[in-house]
Amino acid sequence: MRFRACCVVLAMSQVLFSQAEQSADLKSAENPSLLLGYSKKTSEPERDWERKYRDQVESKNVRENMRRLSARPHHVGSPYDKDNAEWILAQFKSAGFDARIETFNVLFPTPKERVLELLEPKKFKAKLQEPVLAVDSTSNQTSEQLPTYNAYSADGDVTAPLVYVNYGNREDYEQLDRMGISVKGAIVIARYGEGWRGIKPKVAGEHGAIGCIIYSDPRDGGFYNGDDYPSGGWRPRDSVQRGSVMDTDHPGDPLTPGVGATEQAHRLDIKEAKTITKIPVLPISYSDALPLLSELKGPIATDGWRGGLPITYHVGPGPAKVHLKVVSNWDIKPVYDVIATLRGTDNADQWVIRGNHHDAWVNGAEDPISGQAALLEEAQVLGKMHRQGWNPKRTIIYCAWDGEEPGLLGSVEWVETHVAELQKHAIAYINSDSNDRGYLFPDGTQDLQTFIGEVARDVQDPETHMSVFQRSHLVSISKAKDAQERGDLRKRNDLLVTALGDGSDYTAFQDFAGISTLNLEFGGEDDGDQYHSIYDDFYWYSKFVDTNFAYGRALAQTAGSAMMRLADADLVPVDYAPQAEAIGKYEAELEKLLKDKQDEFTERNLELKEGVFTAAADPHQPSLAPPVETVPPYMNFAPMKNAIEQLKKSSEHYSKALTAWQAKGAPALSAEVLTRLNSELLGISRLFLNAKGLPERPWFKNQIYAPGAYTGYGAKPIAAVREYMDEKKWKEAEGQIPQVSQVIETVAAGIDKAAADLESSTQ
Ligand SMILES: [Zn+2]
Repeated sequence: MRFRACCVVLAMSQVLFSQAEQSADLKSAENPSLLLGYSKKTSEPERDWERKYRDQVESKNVRENMRRLSARPHHVGSPYDKDNAEWILAQFKSAGFDARIETFNVLFPTPKERVLELLEPKKFKAKLQEPVLAVDSTSNQTSEQLPTYNAYSADGDVTAPLVYVNYGNREDYEQLDRMGISVKGAIVIARYGEGWRGIKPKVAGEHGAIGCIIYSDPRDGGFYNGDDYPSGGWRPRDSVQRGSVMDTDHPGDPLTPGVGATEQAHRLDIKEAKTITKIPVLPISYSDALPLLSELKGPIATDGWRGGLPITYHVGPGPAKVHLKVVSNWDIKPVYDVIATLRGTDNADQWVIRGNHHDAWVNGAEDPISGQAALLEEAQVLGKMHRQGWNPKRTIIYCAWDGEEPGLLGSVEWVETHVAELQKHAIAYINSDSNDRGYLFPDGTQDLQTFIGEVARDVQDPETHMSVFQRSHLVSISKAKDAQERGDLRKRNDLLVTALGDGSDYTAFQDFAGISTLNLEFGGEDDGDQYHSIYDDFYWYSKFVDTNFAYGRALAQTAGSAMMRLADADLVPVDYAPQAEAIGKYEAELEKLLKDKQDEFTERNLELKEGVFTAAADPHQPSLAPPVETVPPYMNFAPMKNAIEQLKKSSEHYSKALTAWQAKGAPALSAEVLTRLNSELLGISRLFLNAKGLPERPWFKNQIYAPGAYTGYGAKPIAAVREYMDEKKWKEAEGQIPQVSQVIETVAAGIDKAAADLESSTQ
């Protein structure tokens, strides 16, 4: 599971307004080379150690790590998953880390029966199998491969007419309503893309469908984009995207929400589990989808609904009638998290945490081994540096998670188990998952935006030889939507950090435990896609993706440097100005959403009155007018705007205190002062939490950073308000504003206190 790089590029273009003056002040002209959070005494030695570190990271080691870890299928519960965990454990130990495996027992369904057949008007049986390719030497490990399926699909045996629902998201069903088409009692077929796969069966079920098929259309990752595999890198006709369709109430083990899935944990009965789908779901290839789609009649799909297959896309329902049967083995399986610690010298009870998952759907060279292989090289080189005399001040913890693919199982259960200690000790979590060629797009919490921009200045892009910072900065200008945005970007001296929802192992850290988070990966120049198929393997990755592992090295250099810099900084290297700026923008988006909806519904109601829809519809192809909508009332955002003003002021206050310290030549601070200041700084990201969680999803505690219930991976900042607005529940949305504002005020007060303490300690 992960964000595809293309989604990240899109997110990048939704940039923030420029208000970077505070961050600019931090790099005070008197001492431009001083690192954020470092004193004059510590800044240069840190740079030296980091340089030594980056010089020792080697592409060939990343390559060999990948070859070993992706040599056989290694999904949860498979022999090679355990074998990999033990090998990773040995790697950490040989690097000098204190390492162990933590095991959790989780619900992990695997396929028992899968049937998909067309009964009318023709007969066809889907083969549901990805063929062996002679050139691809691991594609023949058939006995170890998980069959193509969607984990946590409900069991079911259904027969019904077929309806094509495009991507199967909520807007597509509004379009179906206008066509006068209901999916009640039908089986829907949706294409992969435009939102997380788990939303497709969820929304289908809510509209009365009794089954859901998801297929990979060649337009969204196949030959439409480039030559297909094995002559090119793109998804071939029989390739299938496996994946979890777990519902969005909470990630992790469906049977132990909110607590670690340890031996003693109380487990729900499977019938009580909220995150298993309501209807059966099955993923298929486009060669299995083509005979089904070819037999649909009914309205012709409009432009945005047409894929890349050589047919006229019809919507149905029928005459195609299909039989879908899905039955799983509902077993409890072990997940093996490998946890490795390098103890800090001065502040051992402050933890800097790094993680990437090691489980895959099949061989998983790209997802997740491209990230895991880099992470292991980081640990090896940090271990070497430790033997060369480098001692991290804070404790460094490296984690190789199991069970990420089915539902972030390994990381969620670990965080739930250790949440109290983590909230006391963790200063940041740095995640990666899959890595490609291209540019760095940092995602996460913006208190680390200035920090990661500084790190990216010190890493070289392996192909253009400019800095990673410069390349990402210039690429963001090239992708800006207009002159205003380009102008704003040119004024910045940082890389914008995009908010995360869920979708990889940072989720529990950020959304449940309130820990500052970054997700790092290179991407944007992919020339292929085998996401979650048997062809995502070493042969494919080393031939079509990062062929010389130069970007694997760049990831290890970037994430490893970030780990060192977080571990060694005198003061936790946070800067709250970009975070206040980002939260201000999220609030502005809420106001814009309200205004847009008011305008849209006012216009629609007027057009309904005028008869515009009737006049514009072709009488031979009747369509229904959309329903009359109640125009949303005005909402009072004032409490939130006032709270954000306070947050901006307090973040300026903290920036000023830091700048003043640097202007004095950044004299070293006493151990006692540092301990006090750092423990204050460490607690600030916890203040974003509300113990009750989001109104409809109590597991998600963070009131600013959260995924949407209907977006899956994608972030919906300020979800408590935003999601009610999406549901057109305007009163409930407004009702959430005071408590979110209260959370922002508490954060502002925490930052103010830290700023005042820093000022009095450095006078
Ligand atoms: Zn992944």
